[in-house]
Amino acid sequence: MGKEFSPFIPEYLKKNRIEKFIPEWIQGSESLASSLSKSVFFEDRPLLLKGGNCIIPFKGIFPFDIKIQDGKIHSIGENLSDKEAFVLELKGKLIAPGIIDPHVHLGIFKDFDVEIVTETKSALLNGVTTLGLYIGGEEPYLKRLDDIIGKIEKGAFCDIFLHLVIFNQKQMEEIPIYYSRYGIKSFKAYMCGIPGLIPEVEDDFLIQLMETVAGLGNDAVLNIHAENYRLVNMATKKLKLAKPLSYSLEEWERSHPGFAEAEAIQRASFLSMQSGARIYFVHLSCKESVDVAKELRRRHKNLYFETTSPYLTLDIRQDTDPLYKMVPPVRKKEDQDVLWNGLAENIIDSIGSDHTPMSTDEKKTGLSLWEITPGYPAVGTHLPSLLDGAWKHEFPITTLIEKMSASPAKIFGLYSQKGTLLPGTDADLVIIDPILEKVVTPRIAASRSDYCLHQGKKLRGWPVAVVKSGKILTPESFEQVKTFLKGRYLRRS
Ligand SMILES: [Zn+2]
Repeated sequence: MGKEFSPFIPEYLKKNRIEKFIPEWIQGSESLASSLSKSVFFEDRPLLLKGGNCIIPFKGIFPFDIKIQDGKIHSIGENLSDKEAFVLELKGKLIAPGIIDPHVHLGIFKDFDVEIVTETKSALLNGVTTLGLYIGGEEPYLKRLDDIIGKIEKGAFCDIFLHLVIFNQKQMEEIPIYYSRYGIKSFKAYMCGIPGLIPEVEDDFLIQLMETVAGLGNDAVLNIHAENYRLVNMATKKLKLAKPLSYSLEEWERSHPGFAEAEAIQRASFLSMQSGARIYFVHLSCKESVDVAKELRRRHKNLYFETTSPYLTLDIRQDTDPLYKMVPPVRKKEDQDVLWNGLAENIIDSIGSDHTPMSTDEKKTGLSLWEITPGYPAVGTHLPSLLDGAWKHEFPITTLIEKMSASPAKIFGLYSQKGTLLPGTDADLVIIDPILEKVVTPRIAASRSDYCLHQGKKLRGWPVAVVKSGKILTPESFEQVKTFLKGRYLRRS
């Protein structure tokens, strides 16, 4: 984005907030298949979405039409018409800004070139149109960024912005160049690594990193995986000594205690006050962290908090499959409820997935609990699992969509190009049927992974079509449309 774009907001867009999942006047579910003619995918005619209910972040839900032209939202309002346009009737459907998943990892267990194709397909078919992608490794990134961006522009179906994980002094020194040359404004530090995969950094390194990021300006942000690794190690050692070991995910959960997460959030927030750096805490998983975040937000305006769809929808007492081993671990139902409350009370700003594609083989579920690789595919189930979760928690869909689109867009410098439905912005949209029920399968999730979270469960609320840069597609039409879809690298400056 070369320039800051401020959209025109019409007078009639007064707030139209809701208290429940969806308002009563939204109902009915007709299949879209018949109205989606093949020709629309190939033509440059405007697209007119009629009769749907538009979720406009921070405003509410409105029964508006939307006209899309040249990859942008041309207009939104009542009774729009255009004789040239391809018209799509969307009665009973919701239209939301394309989902932004700010937390995705690719290229860890399989080549980046492969996953940039397969996983952006999984995202797009399930309503996610923009990804915040973490790039890691101990090599300086200057040698690699042209190649990575080239691969994104060649293979991705979604738009992508980058977060660079900073492990060492050399990478830290290069940060101002990552920022000025590549428009990268977010970086990441691990206060607790993953043994054998990711090393952690100490507080002295962390505070220098905060100073470096703060020095870039107040549009830069440091993302932090906050857990106290010494407390995690201590809890792990203690558990391994206990006999007999249960090798259950509940045991795994106790090896990463909630207080270790909360302590690290508190410490990093305190350190950040020395530099004024903006900090974005990734994947809050538990009650202790939400409690601490609530306190910290009162005093400190530069802090942002993320949770993920798995922590909002999985429960350690029911979801016991070793395929669900992750860091931090799946917690209890009580933690899940506190996280939903945290979203409602604006303690939590954004929702990611922490998608890390891997197969059952790569997960090594045949090994003992302690040897199984943490991580899971989730971008394909991100939106459906949260629609179902919001319905079960009576959580307003307007707020859910804000936390999944406009809010991460603002934090990471993409708003309002992304994250809204206002005229002049990118035409990335998701069309949702809020009452459609389907059983989750890896085929629907459409990742290269041979399993997915929630597989076998029936979820309520599904994306039924997606508009990406003005092109409309469904899972059925993807193969025909895909040559017209070009993911872009989002340079943020
Ligand atoms: Zn992650």
